[in-house]
Amino acid sequence: MKIVVILFGSPGSGKSTQAILVANKAGLLYFDTGHLLESIVHDPKKQKESVIKRERQLFDSGKLMTPEFVVKEVIRHLKVIAAAGWGVVFSGSPRTLGEATKLLPELEKLYGKKNIFPFSLEVPAASSIERNSRRFVCKVCGAPLLTRYYPSKNPKHCPVCAGPLYRRTLDKPEIIKVRLEEYHKRTEPVFRFFKKHGYEIRKIDGRPAPYKVLNNIYRFLKL
Ligand SMILES: [Zn+2]
Repeated sequence: MKIVVILFGSPGSGKSTQAILVANKAGLLYFDTGHLLESIVHDPKKQKESVIKRERQLFDSGKLMTPEFVVKEVIRHLKVIAAAGWGVVFSGSPRTLGEATKLLPELEKLYGKKNIFPFSLEVPAASSIERNSRRFVCKVCGAPLLTRYYPSKNPKHCPVCAGPLYRRTLDKPEIIKVRLEEYHKRTEPVFRFFKKHGYEIRKIDGRPAPYKVLNNIYRFLKL
């Protein structure tokens, strides 16, 4: 059965960690929108294109990229995935009403309305900022280091693949504040749009340990 899991949540809510966990447990493909967009705008071969320059500037400063650009890239990749017979987990898409109005009909066409499961991971703003500013991410596999459970002042190796860890520029406190504001301003209309179309967005407490959050999401999925 092909299903779509959509994880909403502010920066630092743990939605990418959950996306990976849900994907592994349910046998779905993790559609990492942020990573996809990063790889497109940072592609050395595309740096002379004016659209890429504009989008890269938005991306690197923590602002949301142009919805038309994002949705075009997302749908292009999604069609390939659906054609290959895979279900998907989204974290970070759709971020804006513009994206949602184009992406949701496409998802319904490819997967069917009853197979789409949206969730909202809820964490208070203060813990978002705290979690993000202490975050390390693996340069190779993209896994985050959960510093709350593995406290270390200077961690060097990814717990998954032993690759080098780094701090993303996106995770600096001043940029996280911009991202949090953007999140609330532009994502809340998306929730209204989903509700108007008959979807219930289930609220999940994002603060417990990731395996507990995973179970709270998983029990709502009809696989
Ligand atoms: Zn790694």
